[in-house]
Amino acid sequence: MNSSEWIWRSGRLQPWGEATIHVNAVGHASVAAVFEGIKAYLAEDGENLLLFRLEDHLDRLYHSARICRVEIPYTRDELAEAILGLLKANRASADTYIRPWAFPEGLIREQMVPAGVRCEVVVDSWPFQSGFKREGCRAAVSSWLRVTDASTPPRVKAFSNYHNGRLALMEARENGHDWPILLNEQHKVSEGPGACIAMVRDGVVVTPSLSSGVLESITRSTALTLLAEEGYEVDERPVDRTELYLADELFFLGTAWEVLPITTVDGLRVGNGTAGPVTERLYELYFSLVRGRAGRHLSWLTPVPVGAHV
Ligand code: PMP
Repeated sequence: MNSSEWIWRSGRLQPWGEATIHVNAVGHASVAAVFEGIKAYLAEDGENLLLFRLEDHLDRLYHSARICRVEIPYTRDELAEAILGLLKANRASADTYIRPWAFPEGLIREQMVPAGVRCEVVVDSWPFQSGFKREGCRAAVSSWLRVTDASTPPRVKAFSNYHNGRLALMEARENGHDWPILLNEQHKVSEGPGACIAMVRDGVVVTPSLSSGVLESITRSTALTLLAEEGYEVDERPVDRTELYLADELFFLGTAWEVLPITTVDGLRVGNGTAGPVTERLYELYFSLVRGRAGRHLSWLTPVPVGAHV
């Protein structure tokens, strides 16, 4: 099921089936919508869900909203409370995906959102089981370029940006691959449609820099921290397309995709065709962290008691 019993909508919990809007509000009004994707993981003890880097996700939501001039009429604390309340109302007891989003309210027929237009804020959530996909995925460099900071900034997490990712995804699937890798307007590697990308070359973990046309990914920053703590050399720099073909390991990084090995790129096998040792190690580190086993970075974990009632 892709939903839960309750949704949080502009200050109160609402039954999922009643959370509707007028059809006229779907067009231009949603062009400006910004959102976040957050995961809550079942802790090892089974007693708590652990929201991963909630504050960082909320910060990014407000950054996206600021750039798009969408005024969110709630504080960070109020939205954090809303998310905790929603998980409790839904008696969430397994890995869960949480999506807060904000959009200008009303039947707006113009592209402009004048200052002072009220914004609706919605939080929905649904069960999302996690696990390592060792078999990985087949990726292909897209003929579509990533949107650019000069036109439709990829730093913003706006639904509109996913039009770009969708075009690339459709092309990749048409050609028999699983996921596209988009190049930026300088024809350097940027990211996938819903995840950042990293490679291992000669023992160094390399990922495109934050000016390469990427979302400021929280999984990417987590991975860089964990790998550096493990003693790996990490490098954020522009990455050429042909480096993808020479990489010893390649993987996507994202809240939903977590650590996803890439086993072929444009039909060329990466490494020995399964998850490489750095990818495997990163996965172990990431999962022991998000499930509270690592005993480190505890400030990144917000516990919510499992199965609690409102
Ligand atoms: N890039 C894009 C385009 C994304 O949609 C996502 C998913 N939010 C990411 C990168 C990864 O970001 P994060 O690790 O914060 O989920």
